[in-house]
Formats: sequence, C-alpha cells, structure tokens
Amino acid sequence: SQVLQENWQNEVASFSFEYFVPKTQQNLYDRMDRMKEWQPLFVDVTWNAGGASRQMVTSTTDMITKASKGFGLETCMHLTCTGMSQEDVDAALSKAFNGGCRCILALRGDAPVENEKWEATSNGFMYARDLVKYIRQKYGDHFEIGVAGYPEGHPEQHDQDVLIEHLKEKLDAGASFVITQMFYDVDNFLQWVDKCREKGITQPIIPGIMPITNYASFIRRVKWCEINVPPEFMSALETIMEKGHIYHLHFYTMNVEKSTRVILDKLELVRK
Ligand code: FAD
Repeated sequence: SQVLQENWQNEVASFSFEYFVPKTQQNLYDRMDRMKEWQPLFVDVTWNAGGASRQMVTSTTDMITKASKGFGLETCMHLTCTGMSQEDVDAALSKAFNGGCRCILALRGDAPVENEKWEATSNGFMYARDLVKYIRQKYGDHFEIGVAGYPEGHPEQHDQDVLIEHLKEKLDAGASFVITQMFYDVDNFLQWVDKCREKGITQPIIPGIMPITNYASFIRRVKWCEINVPPEFMSALETIMEKGHIYHLHFYTMNVEKSTRVILDKLELVRK
C-alpha cells in the first residue's frame, strides 16, 4: 500500500500478517477479526499451488474479499505462475480487483509435488518477473506489487549475486517492495540487505518472520527452505529494526495468533 512506502520513508514501525486458505474458514475469520485489532498495515493470503487453479482462484479471492470488505483490512494476494495460464491469472486478478484488493505478491511458485522440475504452463509465465510485468501492463498502478527475496539463497540458485540480479529484475519490471523468505540468522540478513543496496535496490525490504509454534514443523520447514538457525537468533530480533533500517515486519502467522502476539508484545508494537 501507499502507506507502506510512506511509513518506510518516515521510519515508522509497522507489521503485516500472512494467512493461508484453510479447509474450513470460520475459525480463521474469528481469529482475523481479533488480530485486526492489533492494527496490521496489511494482511496477505498465500496461494496454495497444490490445488486446481479454478478452485484456488475462488477460495483465495473469497478470503481476500472477506478480509478487505468484511474486515476493512488492506489486503495483499499472493499469486503464482505454477499451473496458471494467462486466462487463470486474468480471472484471479479481476476477482481480487473486485474484492477490494490493492496489492499482489507476484511469485513464480514451486513445482507441483509430482514434478521434479518447475515448468511453465502453456500460455503462462516463466518467471515472477514476467508476472510483475503483466500485472503492470494490465492494471497500471492499481495494484502495488511485491516480490520474494532470498537472503540465504534459493533451492534452485545458490549464487547470491545472481539471485540479487534476478530480484532487481523483478523490481525494475514494476514491483515496489520485497518480502523475504523466513530466516533466523539476523547478521546474514543485514549483510544481504547491504548487498542489495549496493546493487542499486532502493525499495523497502521486509523480513519474513516465522514464529516457532511447533518444533517438528519448524525443523521440517527450515530443512525444506534450506534455512540456517544460529543459536542466539531470538535475542537478536529486537535489534534488527535499528540496524538495517528495517521498519516493517511480516509475520507468517500460519493462521495462529499467540506466538505472533508474544513477539509483538516484546517489541512493544501493539497498542494496548
Ligand atoms: P523467481 O524470482 O521467478 O525465481 C525463480 C527461479 O528462477 C530462481 O531460482 C531464480 O534465480 C531464477 N530466475 C529468475 N529470473 C531469472 C532469469 N531472468 N533468468 C534465469 N533464471 C531466473 N509459493 C507458493 O506456491 N505460494 C505462495 O503464496 C508463496 N508465497 C511466498 C512468499 C514469500 C515471501 C516467499 C519468499 C516465497 C513464497 N513462495 C510461495 C515460494 C516461491 O513461490 C518459491 O520460492 C519459488 O520457487 C520461487 O518464486 P519467486 O517468485 O521467487 O521466483
């Protein structure tokens, strides 16, 4: 949103919450209703690339519409290229537009589990960069567009310089902010931000924060995304904002509220 850019320039601390579409939505809606009182700058809904595109378009945009029109929240919809033709993308964007959404996190997506390698869908998009370009072409400035960044590398690309070049291409194509993959190594993140700045990336970079609620799933996720976990990472969280000119935190809530609230309380970011 416009506010994100303004807050960033004025060094105002803020945060956002990420949700995924659950099987049954009522519990999550009750939770969103409570969490909106904490005043997140925006909430976003992930794109579950596992299902059929038609059904995903409907379930995701329904949730975006509920958050936007039902709860009056600024919303950001994730959208991936996996399994999506240009027509599917058009349908998703048009429903998001009608649902009051003003922001898209444009992603390539991962390969479906049954495929080893990622492949573009016929009449679809190859890279997130191409999706960014398309959204800009079609909708002008209506949507703010965010993209994904990888402080610890991407499973398909471990060369940091190359990854930063690809990140810059997405921003040059019309994206205006970056949300990172989760990480627990703050020093590495800050070095990476410096490197992005050296390479001419000027847009807000938002750290993605995955609170730990369950040890087994934490370990599984960290392995899957190839994330390094230094022993002292929790205590470092509090210093991250001053050091890296980081003013906005993005919480992967996994649709639960408690651990996010604990962190926000510790950082004194929720008005009581
Ligand atoms: P891209 O930036 O397109 O990069 C994909 C690969 O292609 C990289 O290896 C990159 O180096 C390479 N590449 C890029 N440009 C070029 C080029 N010009 N030439 C050659 N190679 C190139 N996944 C979901 O399915 N749903 C979600 O909701 C979702 N949300 C996410 C949110 C965040 C904040 C993050 C960090 C990730 C999310 N993901 C999600 C995962 C994401 O889809 C995967 O990490 C995916 O593998 C890469 O997506 P990307 O948008 O970064 O792709």
